[in-house]
Amino acid sequence: MPHDPYRALYLHIPFCASRCGYCDFATRACAADDKRMDEYVERLVLELRRKAKEGELSAIETVYVGGGTPTHLGHGRLSSLLYALSLSVDLAREGLEFTMEANPESLDGRLVKDMWALGANRLSLGVQSFDDEVLRLLGRPHTAQGALDAVAAARERFQNVSLDLMCGIPGQSRDSLEDSLRRAVALEVPHISVYPLSIERGTPFDKAVLAGLMEPADDDTQADHMLLAQQILQEAGYRRYEVASYAKPGFECRHNEAYWTGVPYLGLGEAAATMTQNAERRMRVTDGRVTDDLDRPQMEAEDLMLAMRMADGVSDGRLARAAEFLPGAPAALESLAADGYVVHEDGRWRPTEAGWLCGNDLYGRLFDLA
Ligand code: SF4
Repeated sequence: MPHDPYRALYLHIPFCASRCGYCDFATRACAADDKRMDEYVERLVLELRRKAKEGELSAIETVYVGGGTPTHLGHGRLSSLLYALSLSVDLAREGLEFTMEANPESLDGRLVKDMWALGANRLSLGVQSFDDEVLRLLGRPHTAQGALDAVAAARERFQNVSLDLMCGIPGQSRDSLEDSLRRAVALEVPHISVYPLSIERGTPFDKAVLAGLMEPADDDTQADHMLLAQQILQEAGYRRYEVASYAKPGFECRHNEAYWTGVPYLGLGEAAATMTQNAERRMRVTDGRVTDDLDRPQMEAEDLMLAMRMADGVSDGRLARAAEFLPGAPAALESLAADGYVVHEDGRWRPTEAGWLCGNDLYGRLFDLA
C-alpha cells in the first residue's frame, strides 16, 4: 500500500553469548566465530542497501540496533554493518538519534570507539543489576564489575548512555534493588530503564516455577519495586517519562517514543517488526507475516492506548481528533478518570500511578473503543 515515510529504523541482531534464564526474545547463543553471524550481517547489509536505493530510508530520524546482543557480533562484523548503515542513512542529519544496544561482556574500548566513529550517538547497556548473585540467578554472563567497566568504556566517547535494570526478580531483595538503583544514579548516566521481570512460557524460569524450584515475585512486590525505582530516580533528578523509562531533561529515547506515538518504522533482520501506515490503515509485519491490520478507528484507539504508557498522556486537542473516529473516547477518558487511572490537568489526560499499575485494564479499555 502507498505509505507515509518511515521515520524510525530498527536493525535486529539475534545472537547472544549465552541464553539468560528468563529470555523469550528471538535470539540464539553462539560462539564468537560462528559463521551464521557472518552470513546474517551480509544479508542485513544487502537489505539495508536495497532499502536505501528504494528511497525508504530518506526520512529516518532515529536508528536503533538491538537484539539479542549487537556487540556480540564483534569488531569486524559490526564495523561492516555500521559502515553500510552510514552509506544508507544520513547519520549526520541534525538531531538524528542512533542507539546501539550493548551488553557488558562484549563491550570494550575499541568497540566503543568504532561505534562512535561510525555514527552511533547513544549507547544502551543491558546491566540488569549490580548484584552478582542476582546476575548469576538471571543467567547473565557478566558481573557487576564488568558492568562498571563497560560504563567506563562507554563514557570514553558517549555522553548519552542508558542503563537497563530489572526489578521483581525472584529472590531479589528490596535492598539489592535499592543498591543497584543507587549505583546506577552514582554513575550519572542520563537515562535509566527499569523493567519488571515477567516469566514467559517455555523459558527455563517458567520451568523452574512449574517445578516448584522458583518463586515468582508477587504483584505487591513488583509494585513495591516499581515505586522504589520511581522514588529513587525522581529524587536524583530523573523524570519518569514512560512507565519503565527515566531520563534527565532532553535525554528521553526518541526511538522508543516513536513506537509509542504512531510514527511509522522499518525493521530489518529476522523478527524485526515493521509498521507501515497511511491515513486509512496501519499494518505491522514481522518475518513477512501480518501481525496487525488496523483501520482508522483502531489506529486512533491504539494511539490513545500507547500514549498512556507515557507520562504526558494525550492532549485535549489530540483527544478531539481521535473522537472524530471514536465518538466514545472522551467518555472513556472521563470514566478512567473516575476510576483513578488517569487525571485531567493542564489540558492533558495523563496516566496515574494506579493506571500504570493496572496497565492492562487501562490500555484494554482504550483499545476496546474500536
Ligand atoms: S542478553 Fe538479552 S536477548 Fe540475549 S539471552 Fe539475555 S535476555 Fe535474551
